Amino acid sequence: MVISFDQLSLTHGALASADPQTDHVVFIESVSMLTSRSWHAQRLYFLLSAAEHFRQELVQRGFTVTYIASDTFASGVDQFIRANPGVALRATTPSSRAQKELLLKLGVELLPNDLFLTPHDDFVEWASGYKSLTMEYFYRWQRKRLDLLMDGNQPEGGQWNFDADNRLPPPKNRKGQAPHMWPQPLHFEFDDIDLASIDRLNEFTAWGDMPNGTWATTRQGALKQLDHFVTNALADFGPYEDAMPTDTWTVNHSLISPYLNIGLLHPSEVVAAAIERYEQGGVPIQSIEGFIRQVIGWREYINGVYWLFENDYREQNQLNAQRSLLPLFEDSESTQMNCMRTVISDVELRAWTHHIPRLMLLANLALLTGVNPQEFLDWMRRSFIDAADWVMVPNVIGMGVHADGGRMMTKPYAAGGAYISRMSNFCGGCVYDPKKRTGDDACPFTTLYWDFLDRNRQEFSGNHRMGQQLRGLDRLSELEEIRSRAKDVIQGLERGEI
Ligand SMILES: Cc1cc2nc3c(=O)[nH]c(=O)nc-3n(C[C@H](O)[C@H](O)[C@H](O)COP(=O)(O)OP(=O)(O)OC[C@H]3O[C@@H](n4cnc5c(N)ncnc54)[C@H](O)[C@@H]3O)c2cc1C
Ligand code: SF4
Repeated sequence: MVISFDQLSLTHGALASADPQTDHVVFIESVSMLTSRSWHAQRLYFLLSAAEHFRQELVQRGFTVTYIASDTFASGVDQFIRANPGVALRATTPSSRAQKELLLKLGVELLPNDLFLTPHDDFVEWASGYKSLTMEYFYRWQRKRLDLLMDGNQPEGGQWNFDADNRLPPPKNRKGQAPHMWPQPLHFEFDDIDLASIDRLNEFTAWGDMPNGTWATTRQGALKQLDHFVTNALADFGPYEDAMPTDTWTVNHSLISPYLNIGLLHPSEVVAAAIERYEQGGVPIQSIEGFIRQVIGWREYINGVYWLFENDYREQNQLNAQRSLLPLFEDSESTQMNCMRTVISDVELRAWTHHIPRLMLLANLALLTGVNPQEFLDWMRRSFIDAADWVMVPNVIGMGVHADGGRMMTKPYAAGGAYISRMSNFCGGCVYDPKKRTGDDACPFTTLYWDFLDRNRQEFSGNHRMGQQLRGLDRLSELEEIRSRAKDVIQGLERGEI
């Protein structure tokens, strides 16, 4: 059977029913995949080391494992088939469309992919009942279907969603009072396999900082991270879910997405661990609900949408955004915007930042400046530790830069400096002023936000959810100055001077 680098599970997928005595396992390392882009060094390291740990575990369990390094994934499978004529190959259905098509073409039998909680047919059935695919309705359907946080037929705590209690800004550290204490991240020591994988990074043109112990590469490490989260961070997950404080990079987030996305953790065990911790007491309903919504709601919804939409969804560019990727995405030093410099430097350092910086800083800037969606998608894919086609395409094209014209999210996630100022501590240390729309020290986000609405007024005029923003635009008296400042800001960003 063929095992992909993102299917490292013994309990789910093809290996769950495999027999070490009779089943031959094949790993394919595709040179073209590893060298096709300038991946983040930690992403490459994570994939290589996790696969090697897993391969060695399979050998210890008595499996015959063949590891083939070949030019492409297809030539690797082909090589194995020619060396083992008559052997019928099986695989878990891949999580990416391209790989699924490839394996089918090569005649590999595909078993159902149970690395998610929602079979594709069930998602299709749910989606068929709605005109627009509202995540909240999917999530309620999931809560009932999976019987999670339910009190009979009603949501536990009397509400489906506690967002109104969450979304707090970073806590203020007041003089004379002890500062707010954030959970401390774990550090993972390198073992020999990790060190050998780090050595291999010389073979590739990678970007970003070298591995530094942020990410585990084994199931044991992934379980340790899960336990660390439910023990130390879950209780405050809800309130600070959207906050972007400068004195912590993890906030109360779980840091489990890389492990979930390569099979080292299964969503069912993540949910079970969180619910068990909640039932022990001390975790408020808004935190457990907020976290469960991410795992059974957002994650499953994004995967459902990825398979529901056509393959060319990734090529959408409804707002006709044609700008090349801005230099600051490649180098945190090429911007003076404190928020962007901090978040890009976080990505350089760890290949990760939490959901709100991804959405309201990185994608928001790409949206407001009109960076080409496919260029931005490519950058996101090669920069994040947890990146995968199924999760990046809808999150970037649909949620991040509204390139699908609102097919997934009815309204773009566009925001100016006021939002960032409210939800972070970035602005105090910035050369720009989040309240200013014009002038040399106007916040680029604020100027670009109004300019974006102005440029796309026609596009959004029929969207009732944009009515309030457009009415705000109508009330502005200095539109010409905003347009002119926006041009300067964009040129400055292109030169790496803003
Ligand atoms: C533009 C953009 C790109 C993104 N790209 C990725 C990506 O490549 N890989 C990825 O796993 N997530 C992606 N996300 C979703 C989300 O930002 C990350 O899952 C999350 O930040 C991972 O950190 P965490 O494990 O601490 O998550 P937590 O905040 O602790 O949430 C728990 C889990 O919920 C799931 N989750 C929450 N939101 C989403 C979502 N929108 N889509 C899918 N899963 C979700 C993740 O599995 C996550 O581990 C993206 C979001 C945006 C806006
Ligand atoms: S003022 Fe604007 S650019 Fe500076 S940190 Fe705040 S939001 Fe970012």
